[in-house]
Amino acid sequence: MSAEQDRPPHDVVVVGAGIGGLAAAEALHRSGVDVLVLEARPRTGGRLLGTAEGLDLGATWCWDGEPRVLGLVDRLGLATYAQHLAGDTVVEDQRGVQRYPGNLMDVASHRYVGGAGALTDALAATLPAQRLLLDHPVHSVARGAGGVLEVASRGRTWHARHVVLAVPPAVAADTVRLPADLPDDLVRVAAETPVWMGQVAKVVAVYDEPFWRHDGLAGAAASRVGPLQEIHDMSGPEGRPAALFGFAPSALMGPDADRQVRAQLARLFGARAADPRRVTIQDWSRERWTSPTTAAAGAPDHSLFGHPVFQEPTLEGRLHWASTETSPAFAGHVEGALVAAERTVDRILAAAS
Ligand SMILES: Cc1cc2nc3c(=O)[nH]c(=O)nc-3n(C[C@H](O)[C@H](O)[C@H](O)COP(=O)(O)OP(=O)(O)OC[C@H]3O[C@@H](n4cnc5c(N)ncnc54)[C@H](O)[C@@H]3O)c2cc1C
Repeated sequence: MSAEQDRPPHDVVVVGAGIGGLAAAEALHRSGVDVLVLEARPRTGGRLLGTAEGLDLGATWCWDGEPRVLGLVDRLGLATYAQHLAGDTVVEDQRGVQRYPGNLMDVASHRYVGGAGALTDALAATLPAQRLLLDHPVHSVARGAGGVLEVASRGRTWHARHVVLAVPPAVAADTVRLPADLPDDLVRVAAETPVWMGQVAKVVAVYDEPFWRHDGLAGAAASRVGPLQEIHDMSGPEGRPAALFGFAPSALMGPDADRQVRAQLARLFGARAADPRRVTIQDWSRERWTSPTTAAAGAPDHSLFGHPVFQEPTLEGRLHWASTETSPAFAGHVEGALVAAERTVDRILAAAS
């Protein structure tokens, strides 16, 4: 038996070190709660991920009207800058490429200096090192003696008064064996709740300069031809590094995707766009810890987001949900993950008082 198995139960074990899990863990730790975070990947951040230059491969923007994320940026001493908006839009269909005056694709939004991963890096840094274990995929949560829960990963077992599943519900259903007496509707809804952006690829092309801006273009495009369906300026502050990014359905990202993307960028933004310094394709559907193997083909049913089954803990108040998909407000956004984390922290602190 390991030393961990001998020790008294943790107050809380959080499964997943994305923004939801880390926000919950940071708030609990700040309130004096004994919390341990187990993360499957060798990195924190989940769907917050950047290239080496800090260009986002996952979440990019936050918006006015999202008080939690903007408050968190301030509290963590981080900075944002405005999404580049100025310039015209290009639209591509089978007949060719048309230019339209003004930016028809983007609304005013904020970008994170250093990339969105700065949020989770800063939250992780508030936890003592031994309270955040990377490379620890949780494969089961079970009922243990005395009402505590048992959390198993890599041949070890941790005991906890509360467990927070801060992973998309369908990923939990796919990767974690849960107690057999969970309510049937919770098990069904969890398995069926789609992962926000779980079937999307994000493609980032880095250039020496934002030449499209010099041509009066916003770097904003819509395409019915593809593979990218919408494109935005992804440059850093003051246009450095210079970059464009686009979204494509994962299904369109075949072996020839790099060549197709370069050809499309050249059609939309001119010959210089054909030769980026680098193209990075982040296909989230291939990420085991983001996209469940059971993901249904076809249009995702977002009406399951924020479902009532996720709002109250189960297993006598011990099992909680804290991913963005479980939030009744801003679901899908970073703000939604913070709403879910806040709800979970409130429930756990109320149970302790
Ligand atoms: C391409 C893309 C663009 C986006 N753009 C925006 C945007 O502009 N603005 C915005 O607000 N939002 C955006 N989002 C959504 C945003 O990224 C998410 O809302 C947010 O990151 C979700 O955080 P989370 O903590 O709920 O989940 P996740 O980030 O998915 O975190 C879950 C964590 O749990 C871990 N995990 C999974 N299974 C296990 C297991 N069994 N054991 C242990 N750990 C496990 C995962 O590795 C991961 O670290 C975008 C997402 C994508 C993919």
